[in-house]
Amino acid sequence: MKTISLFMDVEDPINPMADDAALDFPVLFSEVGVTGCFCLTGEKCRKLAERNRCDVALAYSGHSLGLHTNAHSFHPSTMELLADVQWDEGCDAIYEVETRGFEAFVNLFERAPEFWGGGGNTWSPEVTDALKRLNIPAYVYALTQLPNHAVHKFNGVIALPQALSISESEWAHAELSERAQNRVLDAIKEIDQPWIGVFVGHPTRFRHADWWDVPYYGGRTPTLPEYTELLPVTTYEQSKLNLRTFLGRIMKEHHVVGIEEALALTWSYRQPSDEEIVYFQQITSANLRAAVNWPVHYPGMSAELIVNKTMALTDTLQVGFQP
Ligand SMILES: [Zn+2]
Repeated sequence: MKTISLFMDVEDPINPMADDAALDFPVLFSEVGVTGCFCLTGEKCRKLAERNRCDVALAYSGHSLGLHTNAHSFHPSTMELLADVQWDEGCDAIYEVETRGFEAFVNLFERAPEFWGGGGNTWSPEVTDALKRLNIPAYVYALTQLPNHAVHKFNGVIALPQALSISESEWAHAELSERAQNRVLDAIKEIDQPWIGVFVGHPTRFRHADWWDVPYYGGRTPTLPEYTELLPVTTYEQSKLNLRTFLGRIMKEHHVVGIEEALALTWSYRQPSDEEIVYFQQITSANLRAAVNWPVHYPGMSAELIVNKTMALTDTLQVGFQP
């Protein structure tokens, strides 16, 4: 029996149909009796409030909720904002932006986010400074990385990695979904950690044939809302049914918790070994250099200053374990 958290990202502010999908998943988790970790953008919170979707907000009340950046793929993304500025200026810039997300989140849910998750593939270390100022104890989908998906502390903030995932295209097919479920359940057995993060998709991508933010690719901002095509209802229902099956399976085998509960486990932190530091520096730098290729980002962005600012904080790194 392992301690697991299951994540979904709720981030499509454009298409009102996505609000219905955003309602369906917390309801599904609640029906099965599983606590989900849902990561919502500030912009999604503003739109749900504007469209009077109290039903959606209410459906999330029993679940673990995090802030999924202020506006995800709207430009500038986290990296676009911070790629070319020095640390102090970057800290103020990201704090100002994420405060707007934080306020929209609190306005909708009447509670603070339990965690923060980077949008798509975008991050810079000034985020950790903003999280401390906002009193958010942890970030998920960490691009900072240690061997074997270890939980760690970076610049005084807890970093929770995403070890495993199942994609929406897998959920859509009975056979692929079955294979993916087995893959994840088998892999969980192999990961020797006190806590394991598993990503299970985006409600809007279960419902639509493509990503909501395609019109924002390459640094663009469309002048009018562009909606992606809906998938057939039968596909949507099949995908949800497959996810429901997985939730039933995983809760039978493991302890599924929200982030508050995960952080309340007895954690201790130790200094990393020399090997862990080398791994951290190599893999984290590679993750950050790969992240500039997230299709939303403007072409030609350089990760080098973000890599340097991150590496400069290497001696704040601590490895989490359960004594
Ligand atoms: Zn996302």
